[in-house]
Amino acid sequence: MPTIEAAVVREKSGPFVIETISLDAPRPNEVLIRIVGVGMCHTDLVVRDQYFPTPLPAVLGHEGAGVVEQIGSAVTKVGIGDHVVLSYASCGVCVNCQRGLLGYCTDLYGRNFSGARPDGSNPCCDKHGATVSGYFFAQSSFGQYALATERNVVKIPKDVPVEIMGPLGCGIQTGAGAVINALKPGAGTSIAVFGAGSVGLSAIMAARVVGCTTIVAVDLNTQRLHLAEELGATHTLNGAAQDVVASIRDLTGGEGVQYALECTGLPAVVRQAVDSLRLTGICGTIGVSPLGTEFTLDMNAVLFGRTVRGVIEGDSVPDIFIPQLVELWRQGRFPFDKLIKFFPLSQIEEAAHASEKGNVLKAVMLPKPIDGRT
Ligand SMILES: [Zn+2]
Ligand SMILES: [Zn+2]
Repeated sequence: MPTIEAAVVREKSGPFVIETISLDAPRPNEVLIRIVGVGMCHTDLVVRDQYFPTPLPAVLGHEGAGVVEQIGSAVTKVGIGDHVVLSYASCGVCVNCQRGLLGYCTDLYGRNFSGARPDGSNPCCDKHGATVSGYFFAQSSFGQYALATERNVVKIPKDVPVEIMGPLGCGIQTGAGAVINALKPGAGTSIAVFGAGSVGLSAIMAARVVGCTTIVAVDLNTQRLHLAEELGATHTLNGAAQDVVASIRDLTGGEGVQYALECTGLPAVVRQAVDSLRLTGICGTIGVSPLGTEFTLDMNAVLFGRTVRGVIEGDSVPDIFIPQLVELWRQGRFPFDKLIKFFPLSQIEEAAHASEKGNVLKAVMLPKPIDGRT
C-alpha cells in the first residue's frame, strides 16, 4: 500500500494538519476505498475537542464516499470499481443488530469511537512509524484512501455523482431517518424541527417527502430559516426573536405539534421541543451533547401521553436507507446537495472553521487524486 495524504488531529482542539501516513492492506473482511469526497459532520469536531475520547493523534472523517480499490479475501458485498458510501459500523451479531437496530449495537461506541479495529489493532501509522487512530467509524476517511469493513460500505449506482454522496453516511441519514424511520409521521401531520443545520434541514426535507403539512423550522439564523423554507418548511420561527412554544401553539390551533425533533443538543431546546408537543406527541432527540449533560422536563407534560426518545443515525440500516435517499435525490425530492460546499482536503481546517461559524452547512472535502487519476 502506498503512503497517502490524510488530515491528522494531534491534540485536543488542535488543527487538522495534512500529513503523510501509511495504511495496512485490507484484511479478509475489509475494503480499501479511494475517497472522492468526504463530508464534515459535527461529530468530527466534537471528537477533535474530545467530548468523546477517541485516542489522538487520529484521522477523523466518517462521511466518506468513493471507489472500491481493493477488497479482502472474504468480501462479497462489493467488488473493485464499485462506488460506495461509507456509513457507521456495527457488530452484526448483538441482539440489537439482529433486530435491525444497528444504531443501538451494543458495541457501537467501540466500533466507531475507539479509533482501532475490534481486536485493538490499528491499520494506520505516521511517517515515523507511530500509531495514528485510523479506524474512526471504521473508515477514518479524511484522506486519499480509507480502510472500511464490508459491513459499513454501501454500494450506490455509478450514474450519480459520488463526490456529493458521503454525507448520506451520517449527518443526512441522521436527520432524514429520524423522520422517515423513527418518528414516522403520516401525511397531513405536523412537525417542528429545532435547529436548521444540515441534520435539521435533512429532517425538514424528509418531512416534506412523507407528506407532513405543517413543518415548522426553528433556528436563530435568518439565512438558515430562508433555506428551510425553500426545502419544505411551511413556517419558520426565530428563537432569538419570538416565544417559540407559544408561536407553535398559535399556529396549530392551540394544540401543539404531533412531532418534534431536537437537533441542537441543548437542554433548554429539548424543553422547548417537548413543551411544543400536543397531547400524545412524540419528541425525538438527535443533538449531541457532552457526556453527563442533563435536561429537565415538567413531569405532567410527559404524563399526558407524550414521548421523548433518542434516535441514533436515523434508525437506519444503511444498506437499505442510503439507496432510498439516493433515489429521492435523483428524483429531485431530497435536494441535500443544496447544503454542500466543496473544499480541497488541504483546506480542511478552513472548512472546520466555516462549519463552526455556521457559514457552511455541509463541508465536503475533495482529496487530491493519487497518481494523477481523477
Ligand atoms: Zn451489534
Ligand atoms: Zn456524523
